[in-house]
Amino acid sequence: MNEPAKDAENRDHKKLGKELDLFTFSDAVGKGLPLWTPKGSVIRRELERFIVDEEIRRGYLHVYTPDIAKLDLYKKSGHYPHYKDSMYAPIVIDDEEYMLRPMTCPHHFELYLDKPHSYRELPMRIAELAKLYRYEQSGELMGLQRVRTFCLADAHIICATEEQAADEISKSLDLIEYVAGVFGLKQETDYHFRLSLGDRNNTGKYYKNDAAWEKSEALLRDLLKKRGEKFEEAKDDAAFYGPKIDVQMKNANGKEDTAFTVQYDFCMPDRFDLTYVATDGSKKRAFVVHRSSIGAIERIVAFLIEHYAGAFPLWLSPVQVKLLPISEKHAGYAKEILEQLRAENIRVELAEGDSLGKRIRDAKMEKVPYVLVVGDAEVEAKTATLEGRAGKVGALPIADIIVKLKEEIRTRAA
Ligand SMILES: [Zn+2]
Repeated sequence: MNEPAKDAENRDHKKLGKELDLFTFSDAVGKGLPLWTPKGSVIRRELERFIVDEEIRRGYLHVYTPDIAKLDLYKKSGHYPHYKDSMYAPIVIDDEEYMLRPMTCPHHFELYLDKPHSYRELPMRIAELAKLYRYEQSGELMGLQRVRTFCLADAHIICATEEQAADEISKSLDLIEYVAGVFGLKQETDYHFRLSLGDRNNTGKYYKNDAAWEKSEALLRDLLKKRGEKFEEAKDDAAFYGPKIDVQMKNANGKEDTAFTVQYDFCMPDRFDLTYVATDGSKKRAFVVHRSSIGAIERIVAFLIEHYAGAFPLWLSPVQVKLLPISEKHAGYAKEILEQLRAENIRVELAEGDSLGKRIRDAKMEKVPYVLVVGDAEVEAKTATLEGRAGKVGALPIADIIVKLKEEIRTRAA
């Protein structure tokens, strides 16, 4: 096998996911339905906390809406004919048909419609970590990259004017670029922008309104140019309700997928009669932007496993520190350190039993970022010897180790 192919195989998220015990599947549960292990759940939870906190800082309102809704809701939104092949069969309750939701949009629009809104409240950024369900053919399923249920970091931004919508699209791209930066991803090498356009002749696939398509496609194109972004254009790849800017990423095997997306929608505001009260007291039609910041959690985790080759930065590592007492007589002191680190929310494990050499090798195999070794000298001096992936840091007082690790976690250092 040549070097790049070997590297791709070693990075493959399905292989690493098993070796590092991050996720699994069960035939009894079903194909394409991932089970997150405790370690994989740590990564997912850290990503969820990161994006929710970041979005709240940027003025998003995080909500919860149900995983199922009446079939009629998806008929009202117009999603049903476009998505029915990828939706699960209806569940009949009290003579009404319910569907596992394949998208979040109509749920958020109904929430917005709960009461009238003033122009002062807009743009209103409604966000949710939304569990979605889509049928993928079994041949299409691939690890966490292609699954039948996933959690999308989704949002719908209700805007008062087209200018406001354009500004929100730009801010969404800022957020996406920020997130990509935290993961150390670079435009062109790791991801690229794609302007996905509709097709005026394909009225079965796209909402019919030629003027609105022309206008909104030009709006997204101008915006990308104004920002100085490099991008390609793809015809016939839009959402049925409008054009979109997709952030495309390749997995270790070279297969490209959309990781994040920002979409301009000129269709749903009419279908849901989304309005706001303008300065003069009149009711005006709103504009909508759909966007995902960190994309589907499953897909970004698959991508990050491959990007880091399983060696996650400290803030995302399921186990951040392994404590290694040199012999049994140092175990008591190691346990004291364990309690101190735990009290500071540092994820730490104590490894005992095998030889020190084997335990160090195991920690490396598990890609744990730091080990702390304690022996006679450390017990005596009330220190621990810190060793990272780059090599030995040295013997430090426990308080200093805590400060160092917490700073690295806080800054999400790569
Ligand atoms: Zn949406």
